[in-house]
Amino acid sequence: MANLSPSILLGKGTGDWADAYVKAAELVAQLTLEEKNNLTYGIATTENGCSGNIPAIPRVGFTGMCLQDAGQGVRFTDFVNSYPSGIHVGARATLKREINSWNKTLAHDRAWHMGGEFRKKGVQVALGPVVGPLGRVVTGGRNWEGPSNDPYLGGVMGAESVRGLQDQGVISSVKHFIANEQELYRNPTLDAENRTVQSISSNIDDKTMHELYLWPFQDALKAGAANIMCSYNRINNSYASQNSKTLNGILKTELGFEGFVVTDWDAQHAGVAAANAGLDMAMPDGQTFWGNNFTEAFKNGSVSEARLDDMATRIIASWYKLGQDESSYPKPGVGMPYNLSEPHDIVNALTADARPVLFEGAVEGHVLVKNVNKSLPLRSPKLLSVFGYDAKAPDAYMPNGQNILGNAWAIGFEPAISHFSDLSFAAAVIDAPYYSQVAFNGTLSVGGGSGASAGPYLSAPLDALQQRAYEDGTVLMWDTSDVPGATGLMEASDACLVFINAFATEASDRAGAYDDYSDGLINQVATTCANTIVVIHNAGTRLVDQFADHPNVTAIIFAHLPGQDSGRALVSLLYGDENFSGKLPYSVAKNESDYENFFHVGATTPYGLFPQDDFDEGVLTDYRYFDAKNITLRYEFGFGLSYTSFEFSGLEVSSVEDGIAAYPSGAIEQGGAIDLWDIVATVNATVQNTGDRTGAEVAQIYIGIPNGPVKQLRGFDKVKIPAGKSVQVSFPLTRRDLSSWDVVAQKWQLQSGSYDVFVGSSSRNLPLRSTLSIVA
Ligand code: BGC
Repeated sequence: MANLSPSILLGKGTGDWADAYVKAAELVAQLTLEEKNNLTYGIATTENGCSGNIPAIPRVGFTGMCLQDAGQGVRFTDFVNSYPSGIHVGARATLKREINSWNKTLAHDRAWHMGGEFRKKGVQVALGPVVGPLGRVVTGGRNWEGPSNDPYLGGVMGAESVRGLQDQGVISSVKHFIANEQELYRNPTLDAENRTVQSISSNIDDKTMHELYLWPFQDALKAGAANIMCSYNRINNSYASQNSKTLNGILKTELGFEGFVVTDWDAQHAGVAAANAGLDMAMPDGQTFWGNNFTEAFKNGSVSEARLDDMATRIIASWYKLGQDESSYPKPGVGMPYNLSEPHDIVNALTADARPVLFEGAVEGHVLVKNVNKSLPLRSPKLLSVFGYDAKAPDAYMPNGQNILGNAWAIGFEPAISHFSDLSFAAAVIDAPYYSQVAFNGTLSVGGGSGASAGPYLSAPLDALQQRAYEDGTVLMWDTSDVPGATGLMEASDACLVFINAFATEASDRAGAYDDYSDGLINQVATTCANTIVVIHNAGTRLVDQFADHPNVTAIIFAHLPGQDSGRALVSLLYGDENFSGKLPYSVAKNESDYENFFHVGATTPYGLFPQDDFDEGVLTDYRYFDAKNITLRYEFGFGLSYTSFEFSGLEVSSVEDGIAAYPSGAIEQGGAIDLWDIVATVNATVQNTGDRTGAEVAQIYIGIPNGPVKQLRGFDKVKIPAGKSVQVSFPLTRRDLSSWDVVAQKWQLQSGSYDVFVGSSSRNLPLRSTLSIVA
């Protein structure tokens, strides 16, 4: 690592951080050593229900901070909305590249409305968005929290989330930094002999780190993120919370991060080492390693007071930058009661303005992957039958997170185990351990753990179908029991809808990417019903090969995690009031064995107490891997059907200025060298709606960088086009988009050579092809 002198590591207040740094320096100069120290770690309090609290320093007007989850809405409180999850947002991929800041998009709007709720509730730091994990482990428990397995898509959507939250004055905590790709061994545990087994070490080479895992964080930083949460894992054998290479080096030097780094909860493992490696705040408390011991460390010189000043300055500068010093910013935790079951003042954060965003967001994350025999849209069916445990509302739906399936750590799905193991049918067909695979209690609208949220209502598919049946005069029959027996009805049905799910939660990886019980249910219905429509609420990649080719399975929808408007959004799509426009933010292989890292636990021997996971595949994850191995997929990354059809034409590739500098030379501001974002080429294409109804297509551009993967997503544009009409899409390509990481120069490099250009509707349907030549 070049230039790692301590002076460089101190936040500098570059770019639009300048004013905040001036104000912060003035405030910090007035603080005692103890007061500065107190800013750096959380305290336990019963005054509010925030996940983390930094105490106020009234003497200087600092009001304190409440830190609260999460990415899909304000967690653990009432009178807030439950938004579509990260994976749903990725699927909807509605964004234009943000060249014009006024071009507000759905992704931004979702975060903006969510940010308004965090603000009203008195949350200073929203613990999201998630832009890592990147789905390297297909069964990873938290893949659904972030937008995509692809760093480019994750980066664009993550950046929009940061802007949306921070436009409301809420500090966005982008997480988990970095390479937090599995839940197994996420925290130290004790083995049978009472020895500590450390967290997994994600062993990553420098190139892979930059081109894959760092990419979306860089976008989030460029978008102004004021906080980064480091992860639980170790990176190349140093804990993320005390890894000087990733914190001091990559984050604070190379990417010029001016905000503060917070630990993941209880992820601190050292005092002096963590402070000197670049950690700024410990959560939910830092007494064990910092606290009074920390004051001692400053006094005896183990940690310099300059470093402590830097920690305090970064925290206070973030608070100023987001305008949280203004009296209009609600006080920490004002709408976050400590105990929701006891009487409390209601702080209502719900707004009418958020409603269309919740609905559109829910609609657009549904991905239609099969639709034959004109199965969909439904046309005034006379008789509709509904099956599957996922169709109905869960037994309980409450913001305290204890009873909602998918909103609890474990409590929610334990009853499902005992309930289910009583049934011989289920016992016979279920893969053990099935309990971490499906949520039996009812429809899945959000995954489990800290990413969960609960809204003011939940529109369950069956309820929304009831409403529609009433309006249309359709006869609706349902059997959501474990062993559906109404076979007679199936034959007479115009269509049979089968609802299943794939559950995932923080703290445990999934046991598989499909389960035999749900697949058996679908096949059982399809045996009798000629028009079987499958709806899967999937918190991650879900394989479908056990039923996808069944001739009676006429439609398959990956419904992901739509949040509170789930059923209503689905019904509008099923009946064609809305058109499908979602695309898969991951690839769906045919078999588990097709994946390089289907379930990568990390080898534990010969270092039993220090589990290791070598990221040997480098950047070849998801479609990069399937392309390299030429593997036939069930559904590829970027794929999704519509009720209309599109054609691509008119590819135009601009030339790159001859003799362009191979490396960036611009100043370092937050996000990295500023000229990495210069647009060096533009690609245009025309998309025509060749069908008979209005629809939206996500035009995608992939680039084959010399010596890199066959192709990588480098732009997308979702365009709504009336039947018969055409629109032009334009993909501006930045220096970074066309660069690869040069490990010797430690810079992004534009190589001289020929770059492949592909434009189309998915990673494997790319009808427009050309090349772009660079002489650098
Ligand atoms: C999770 C974080 C979360 C934190 C606070 C941790 O267990 O990994 O994502 O923000 O808890 O709830």
